[in-house]
Amino acid sequence: MNYDSMMPRDPFADDPNDPASFLEPEEPAVPLTPEEREATLHDLAIVRECQEILLPRGILGVCFLCEDCDVMHYYDWEIMAANMQASLTGELAPVHEPGADPAIDAYVPWDYALGYLDGREGR
Ligand SMILES: [Zn+2]
Repeated sequence: MNYDSMMPRDPFADDPNDPASFLEPEEPAVPLTPEEREATLHDLAIVRECQEILLPRGILGVCFLCEDCDVMHYYDWEIMAANMQASLTGELAPVHEPGADPAIDAYVPWDYALGYLDGREGR
């Protein structure tokens, strides 16, 4: 008797889109509203797309004028993603972590990144 055959087969064993491979927040201590959560997931997907498409073109991340500091802040895609994942899991995001001496030419405004992706999808 082959007991292995009695085990339920992993329904996603051969599926490259295994849902378990997608990010799932562990336990939202400070739950976002459904709208915030959706918006954050949406932005996170955009950041991942930017990492795939813009990073190879030498664009390291996003810059924006911080209203608190009144100076430009520069965030690598990975830091953006980490911040968004932190919000999704209810952790406190490290808000201000300006890199030391960032290569400011390698950062673009968020809107620029969105426009780039949009134009690309529009073909
Ligand atoms: Zn700031």
